[in-house]
Amino acid sequence: MINRLRELLGEQGLLTAPEQMARYSRDWSGDLSGRPLAVARPGSVGHLARLVGLCAEAGIPMVPQGGHTGLVGGAVPSPEGRELVISLERLDRIRSVDPLNFSMVAEAGCVLETLHRAAEEHDLHFPLSLGAQGSCQIGGNVATNAGGVNVLRYGMARDLVLGLEVVLPDGRIWNGLRSLRKNNTGYDLKQLFIGSEGTLGIVTAAALKLFPRPGQVQTAMLGLASVSDAMRLYAAARRELSDLLSAFELLPRRCIEITLEAHPALREPLEAPAPVYVLMEASASGLVDLAALMEQFLGGCLERGAILDGAVAMSRAQAAGFWRLREDLVEAQHRRGRHLRTDVSIPISCLPDFMREADAAMAAHLPEALPVAYGHVGDGNVHYNVLPPPGLDDDAQDALLHRAEELVFALVDRFGGSISAEHGIGRVKREPFLRRLGAVDRDLLHGIKSALDPRGCMSPGRLLAGDGS
Ligand SMILES: Cc1cc2nc3c(=O)[nH]c(=O)nc-3n(C[C@H](O)[C@H](O)[C@H](O)COP(=O)(O)OP(=O)(O)OC[C@H]3O[C@@H](n4cnc5c(N)ncnc54)[C@H](O)[C@@H]3O)c2cc1C
Repeated sequence: MINRLRELLGEQGLLTAPEQMARYSRDWSGDLSGRPLAVARPGSVGHLARLVGLCAEAGIPMVPQGGHTGLVGGAVPSPEGRELVISLERLDRIRSVDPLNFSMVAEAGCVLETLHRAAEEHDLHFPLSLGAQGSCQIGGNVATNAGGVNVLRYGMARDLVLGLEVVLPDGRIWNGLRSLRKNNTGYDLKQLFIGSEGTLGIVTAAALKLFPRPGQVQTAMLGLASVSDAMRLYAAARRELSDLLSAFELLPRRCIEITLEAHPALREPLEAPAPVYVLMEASASGLVDLAALMEQFLGGCLERGAILDGAVAMSRAQAAGFWRLREDLVEAQHRRGRHLRTDVSIPISCLPDFMREADAAMAAHLPEALPVAYGHVGDGNVHYNVLPPPGLDDDAQDALLHRAEELVFALVDRFGGSISAEHGIGRVKREPFLRRLGAVDRDLLHGIKSALDPRGCMSPGRLLAGDGS
């Protein structure tokens, strides 16, 4: 089989030596790793389709892989060395940009940041934006229904995809690559693949929505007294900034301290420390005077005591400095070692209560652990992470992280939230996901899986148990 695949893909297209495969064997965090049977790197959709057809006939399990920044083990091969990793990295062409239609067609292996630049060249904007954008690929973004910092204005990947091209688990190519805004002809098949985490097929290209490039961007770092104040500010900003708000990130003081400790070159954002910070961005194209609007809004907030202090970035560099305080936090936590990462969501109005109760639960049950909670709260999305104390052995760490996850997820259930708003289920969250499914959910999910992948060869053990049967 390896020989047949090499014949099809060429020397560059199939890696089998352990040192060549090492890069494809683990995820961004390094917490999760596995052993691939081999790594296929097809250079065309035709080759990919033939490869998948051959593997399906032979019953070889396959795992599509993008930029390996997903943090739930979806793209990491299993440890037994039975799964063929299929990397999309060589399918990286931007096929077209259509400025009049405000759309582009890009292959799955295009790195997200490359798409931003391609859109900008046409004075357009592709708004999907996340900390991993220098590595993650649009195919991975579609497969995980990625969100990021601009969801509150532009929506998730699901809202930004107009059409898809997909290689199905039996090797057929489904061509749904249309750039229509409106199409009401029956089931919307593309939506099945978005967020399916590689379990229903391999995305090879996407038609994406573009927007006018915002020529004006106002970025502010604000200090507030409490999370409740931050949520009231959010509602006010949405109304008073003419719905031009594009990002609203919450950073309690502890987050700023962790980032500054890991990156001493970064500066305190405000003169005096505040209990809670909000990193807020508004953006506009055209004739609006955004600077005046922001000044008026923040002036009013200061006057009525809604914020304690604030700084509006006077340059792109200063704005980038504010954003680094948020984005480097992920890596700063990573430096402290293994920890619980969550990406839960809660109805926005319940966020202050959720955060208060989660802190109380941690203090009562795991007082030695350090909770670090922050997130894209404009979407109700909180990363309620938990860092174990230093010096624990592996077993004690496992037990603590497991208990912390149970406590956080129990509260998520109580507030009617979701255990994953961003990273998806993969292998890491599969058990808690399956436990929460009702009988009807199970029937529908397994029905879809077996209709598209009856042999269970595509990403087995991700999302659903085993082969999905
Ligand atoms: C620092 C950092 C910040 C992040 N911030 C955010 C954030 O703000 N919002 C957010 O949503 N996520 C965030 N993430 C998570 C991650 O970046 C996203 O899930 C991203 O969409 C994954 O893309 P990828 O190309 O790295 O996919 P991978 O990790 O390679 O794969 C993820 C899943 O998609 C499947 N897959 C990959 N490519 C394809 C394809 N072409 N066809 C079918 N299936 C495929 C894989 O099998 C796997 O199940 C962050 C991660 C990091 C490390």
